[in-house]
Amino acid sequence: MIPSIGDDTRADAPIDVLIVGGGLVGGTLAVLLANAGLAVTLVDRADPAAGLDAAFDGRASAIALATHRVLAAAGLWDRLGPGASPINEIRVADAGSLLFLHYDHSDIGDAPFGYMIENRNLRRALYEAQRAARNLTVVAPATVAAMDLSGPRAALTLADGRVLAAALVVGADGRASQARALAGIRATGWTYRQTGIVCTVDHERPHGFVAHEHFLAAGPFAILPIRGEPGREEHQSSLVWTEREDLAPAVMALSDDDFLAELALRFGDFLGSLALVGPRWSYPLSLLLAERATAARFVLAGDSLHGMHPIAGQGLNMGLRDVAVLAEVLADAKRLGLDLGSPAVLEDYERGRRFDNTLMLGMTDALNRLFSNDVAPVRLARDLGLAAVNALPGLKKVFMRHAMGEAGELPRLMRGRNV
Ligand SMILES: Cc1cc2nc3c(=O)[nH]c(=O)nc-3n(C[C@H](O)[C@H](O)[C@H](O)COP(=O)(O)OP(=O)(O)OC[C@H]3O[C@@H](n4cnc5c(N)ncnc54)[C@H](O)[C@@H]3O)c2cc1C
Repeated sequence: MIPSIGDDTRADAPIDVLIVGGGLVGGTLAVLLANAGLAVTLVDRADPAAGLDAAFDGRASAIALATHRVLAAAGLWDRLGPGASPINEIRVADAGSLLFLHYDHSDIGDAPFGYMIENRNLRRALYEAQRAARNLTVVAPATVAAMDLSGPRAALTLADGRVLAAALVVGADGRASQARALAGIRATGWTYRQTGIVCTVDHERPHGFVAHEHFLAAGPFAILPIRGEPGREEHQSSLVWTEREDLAPAVMALSDDDFLAELALRFGDFLGSLALVGPRWSYPLSLLLAERATAARFVLAGDSLHGMHPIAGQGLNMGLRDVAVLAEVLADAKRLGLDLGSPAVLEDYERGRRFDNTLMLGMTDALNRLFSNDVAPVRLARDLGLAAVNALPGLKKVFMRHAMGEAGELPRLMRGRNV
């Protein structure tokens, strides 16, 4: 018999938390909660093994110092091996201007600002950690057909007829979230009419673990240090080249030689000669904000809740901050024997994330508007702004702590404590 939403047996299913979407955010949450003793089921429409393919995702993510502790708590850091590269300095400059902003981690301590991690390495670490987690069931590839949040337990019906019931459903299925739509949560947003072109280059001179952001008329051009092969650890960088969406297809269609020539014009020659490593990827850039983070027995986390411009490398950081707060709230509720899907528990999560996420969305949007244009008075104002921050040590230290993700009230996991 195919179970239905009304099937009584679902009330006995021992799932605490059902996560829809096993990307970097949903996958990390699943491991953390399972390791904290909650019974977790993760549903993804894709085969998790497909994410291990090098061609799946060419991006590398800048992970702030405080956020990396969430990955460490999930046991992912140790599984990355030597894959992460520290970010010890950050240089921000407007193309054609002599004014710039330079952060050096040694001005405020020994720790780096954060780390660059290739997404493919993080996916592999997640895959291994999920296989090792005892309380975690992965149902994938699987398609969700319906969701019922009206009963004493949330119920998810899969396209093959299986019904999964849990105290709480987490929608972590990305920007076009089906779970968000099924929960009746609306989202607003817009396209930036920009495309993020991503590739890896090998360069003649060492990067010295410095991250660069150049502001060009079409948008930011980021040069981010990653760890190369043994012996050439400091000779590879991941690039995010923001281009107008109408020009990006032509750039993507260039031959490797022509692409490299265009790239070199934007990159400059400070790291010597360049060579392309692997293919290029392109990502349409947009903003998205869900009107709320929760519904009855339901929460959103990661890009399904907030999709932002990669100008400050914050999308995954914010998703992992969601994870840190949600894991803390749910682990506390479990210890106290509370209903994990009760309004009081969900309210703690909503309150814990609303301000931080909205602030970061607003900041990344404003930065992109300020820097992705060539209007002379705006250029002058922003260049003076960069130089002013650079010249004011007190203010600069505040911004450096923000870059580390250390500012504000942090959940336990981001302070290096257990969930
Ligand atoms: C060019 C670029 C550079 C970036 N650089 C950085 C950076 O340096 N630092 C940073 O912090 N962030 C960065 N980001 C942002 C970051 O990549 C995203 O915020 C992050 O990957 C979002 O992860 P997620 O798990 O929430 O969503 P996703 O990665 O979209 O994962 C969603 C998951 O849900 C699954 N799914 C989708 N639909 C369904 C469905 N209907 N049913 C079941 N499963 C489903 C998918 O298969 C997938 O596994 C960058 C983004 C771009 C575009």
